[in-house]
Amino acid sequence: MHNVLAMDIGGSRFRVALFDDAGRRLEVLEGETSRSGGRDWMLDQLRSRSRELLDRSDYPVKACGISFGGPVDFERQQVRSLHVQGWENFALARWVQETLNLPCRLDNDANAGALGEYRFGAGRGTGSIFYMTLSTGIGGGLVLGGKVHHGRDSLAGEIGHIPVSESGVACVCGGRGCLETFCSGTAIALRGREWAHRRPESAARVLKLSGGKVENISARAVAEAAAAGDSMAVGIIQESAHWLARGLLMVVRLLNPDKIVLGGGVARAGRVLLDPLRKNMEELSSPTLPYSTEVELAELENYSPLYGATALTLETAAEGAKS
Ligand SMILES: [Zn+2]
Repeated sequence: MHNVLAMDIGGSRFRVALFDDAGRRLEVLEGETSRSGGRDWMLDQLRSRSRELLDRSDYPVKACGISFGGPVDFERQQVRSLHVQGWENFALARWVQETLNLPCRLDNDANAGALGEYRFGAGRGTGSIFYMTLSTGIGGGLVLGGKVHHGRDSLAGEIGHIPVSESGVACVCGGRGCLETFCSGTAIALRGREWAHRRPESAARVLKLSGGKVENISARAVAEAAAAGDSMAVGIIQESAHWLARGLLMVVRLLNPDKIVLGGGVARAGRVLLDPLRKNMEELSSPTLPYSTEVELAELENYSPLYGATALTLETAAEGAKS
């Protein structure tokens, strides 16, 4: 028997957890990420919480896996994020090795989420899945034959940044007309605010859920209002589903995976998103190219990347045992 350590470093929350060698979650320590604290603050948190868990573990801890909420160079096992100070080209796996004396492997949150759902969630028992995370932005990860496919530059699966329109809407990546600009949480919140500005009478429910303030309207408020049948909110979610369907049909055409799994905060809207999405995909589909790829919601919710980090550590621990 042994245990493993898993970390999930996100823009708003971070988690450090202990799992057993069958992938069962034993204990999770969570906290809010301090963006102003930068890298050093985060490393302090990771170090102290990891040591706490290592001290409490009943069995030896053999390895560590990390899901990082930003770009990762998988080949070099480095973080590539430019958003938070100090993370650029930081060799996080090596830091864990030196600080906690554990072999470690690192991947980005979309790939980790894909691996987590494949091993422990909605993708269990399949041969291949495409996992899409719908939150502030849109990310994606692909598991083929049990392995995450990273691609030449660790960029495989970046579905949020496929240009789907000539509209010219500017994207955070520097491109224009990306899928993310139409159906991410940020896009949904923006659409809600635009509605509330133009026709406040039709946005009453969304506004109420946002404390009466247009600037506080979030994707969650829009999704909640849509789930309650509010027509403006339903319209916004349906429009997102329309664009999302195009993106996912590309996935079906290119990869034809066994399953497409939707995770992230926006996916928690549930049926109100899933129903129009499936309908749109059906309408866009061609009768001469029928497919059986299923589209489902993630089972592990917030924990998909953390379970993925665990799957990474179990691989690392198994390789260590062999060598
Ligand atoms: Zn983009």
